[in-house]
Amino acid sequence: MTTTVFSDIDWTREGRQVGSLFLPHSPDDDAWGVIPFRAASIRNGEGPVVVLTGGVHGDEYEGPIVIAELLRTLQPSDVRGQLILLPGFNAPAQRAGRRTSPIDHLNLNRVFPGDDFGAPTEQIARYVSDQFFSRADFFIDLHAGGRTLFIQPSAHVVMADEMDPAVVRANAKMAEVFGVGITVQTSNMGDYRTAAGYASKKGIPTLAAEMGQGGWVTGASVQATREATLRLLRHTGVLPGVATVPGVPTRWTRIAGPQAYVFAPCDGYFERRFELGDPVRAGQLAGLMHQLARPELAPEPVLFQSDGTLYAHGLLGHVRAGQNLAVVTEDVPTPSY
Ligand SMILES: [Zn+2]
Repeated sequence: MTTTVFSDIDWTREGRQVGSLFLPHSPDDDAWGVIPFRAASIRNGEGPVVVLTGGVHGDEYEGPIVIAELLRTLQPSDVRGQLILLPGFNAPAQRAGRRTSPIDHLNLNRVFPGDDFGAPTEQIARYVSDQFFSRADFFIDLHAGGRTLFIQPSAHVVMADEMDPAVVRANAKMAEVFGVGITVQTSNMGDYRTAAGYASKKGIPTLAAEMGQGGWVTGASVQATREATLRLLRHTGVLPGVATVPGVPTRWTRIAGPQAYVFAPCDGYFERRFELGDPVRAGQLAGLMHQLARPELAPEPVLFQSDGTLYAHGLLGHVRAGQNLAVVTEDVPTPSY
C-alpha cells in the first residue's frame, strides 16, 4: 500500500503502544521534517476495533482532553479487542488552535477519503481511511462548536436512505447509549467528505458529537464528554468492565435542509434576538443586521425560515454576508434500532 504518512505504531500488534503518525512536511525552514500526530493502540486479543478521535478541528478541546486521559490510563487488561486513540486528529490545526490547518488551510473534516499525493491535510485523511477505517468496527469522533459556534451538546449520526439499514440501526443505538439530551440525525445532504460521513458510508457504525462550544472548555463539558464516551466505549464491547454513569434520554431531531440555516444577508453587525434552545417559528424575527458602512439605513430584519428549536448559532456580532447566524432543528420520531 502506498501511503505518505507513516507510524511507529504497529496497528496489528498486541499490547499498549503510544507513538505517533508522521506526516512528511518540507516547508521553508525544514527540508526533510515531519509533523507528528500522537496516537495510541491498546490491543488485547479478539474483539471489536474501535477508533476514537478528537481535535479534527483544532479549536475543539473536550475530545482531545478525554482521549488523552484514556491514552494515559488504559491498560491492555481493560480492553477487549483494540482501541485506537487519536487525540490530535489534526495536529497542525490543534497546535494553532484553529479550525483549519495553518499549513494548507484545508478543513480535515471536508476532505475524506483523502489523497496520498494531495495536500498535507488530504494525506492525513487518506492514512486514517486506509489504516483505521479498513479495520474499524466502530468509529467515534468527538467535536465541539469551536471558536465561532454556540451549540447544544449533542450527538450526530448519519441516517440516510441509501445506507445499509443495519448500520442506520447501529448508529441510532450508539446515539441512545451516548445519552446526551439531543441527537441530530443527518443525511449530510449527500456529502460524505466528513470523517463520520465517510465511515458511515463504508458501513462502520459511527457517532460524532458536539460537546463544547465557543472555543473554551469547562469542567462540566469535559465531565459530560468523559461520561458519554465511556458509556459508548462500554457499549461497543472494547471496554467491557469500565464503570459508567447513566445518560439521559435523547431527543431526536434533524436539520431539515437549507431553510434550517439563517445566513447574514450582508456585511454588518448582527443584533441577535434569540437564545440557544428557544422555540422558533418561520417568519419570526431572528435579529437585525446593522449595516456598518451605511449608518443612514435602518437595520434589516433577518427572519427564521423554518419552525423548530434553536440548536446552534454563530457567536460573533461582526459578520460578513453569508455567515451562519443560526441553525434550527425540528423534532423527529425516535428511530427503531
Ligand atoms: Zn468540529
